[in-house]
Amino acid sequence: MNASAAVAAAVVPAAGRGERLGPGAPKALRELGGVPLLVHAVRALARSRAVGLVVVAAPADGVAEVVALLDSHGLDGKDIRVVAGGATRQESVRLGLAAIPADVEIVLVHDAARPLVPVEVVDAVAAAVRAGAEAVVPAVPLADTVKRVEPNPGRPEPVLDTPDRSTLRAVQTPQGFRRATLVEVHAKALAEEAAGGTGAPPVTDDAGLVERFGGKVVVVPGHEEAFKVTRPLDLVLAEAVLARRRAADAY
Ligand code: C5P
Repeated sequence: MNASAAVAAAVVPAAGRGERLGPGAPKALRELGGVPLLVHAVRALARSRAVGLVVVAAPADGVAEVVALLDSHGLDGKDIRVVAGGATRQESVRLGLAAIPADVEIVLVHDAARPLVPVEVVDAVAAAVRAGAEAVVPAVPLADTVKRVEPNPGRPEPVLDTPDRSTLRAVQTPQGFRRATLVEVHAKALAEEAAGGTGAPPVTDDAGLVERFGGKVVVVPGHEEAFKVTRPLDLVLAEAVLARRRAADAY
């Protein structure tokens, strides 16, 4: 194995609008402690010695802005590339993947919306792929009991059943893959879409695509601080985590 094959590349889909956070800038450009979420996320990946390259999929009309932003936050010394993202998260990942040099064999995919993932999680995911897994997801046990319902927005929704909580995990990113596996499932998903889809529920993460096409996915421990910033309360929580880290001088 040559040196670049052992080092992972990371794709960061950052082209979403993040409407659930409320009106304003695209989510990846919202600030946390005065620094955009995207910059936090890229720094978190770049801090890992397992990661040699980060490819950011930016909003298609915001590529130059994202390049300038990363430079202005001192990330110009790392190997970071910015490409135009797509209309869906899946398309943004696919476009990011296409920008990775051919000799890179391990790819991580990390949401810009998870700015505070600890470097230990990034390292553990990359290490599990290096050790032979084709797809790896970090995940945490659930605090809440989960019920499956018949969706009926705005009305009381009938409960179908209650899965055994001990078998459930909330999945985070970065998710790690053998590059060939990830490229293959994205190509299959694209072909399926072009053929009119299958009517199956939408796949919301990359590991879900691997499962969908019969691949094997394993879970490693995630971290409570790797949560996704989706709603306004998540920003409040993220500010508190960041303030604690800065007070502890870890940042
Ligand atoms: O909307 P959600 O929180 O699930 O988005 C997850 C990640 O996917 C975010 O980092 C978002 O920027 C990214 N995304 C993207 N391209 C899209 C939609 C979402 O890169 N078209």
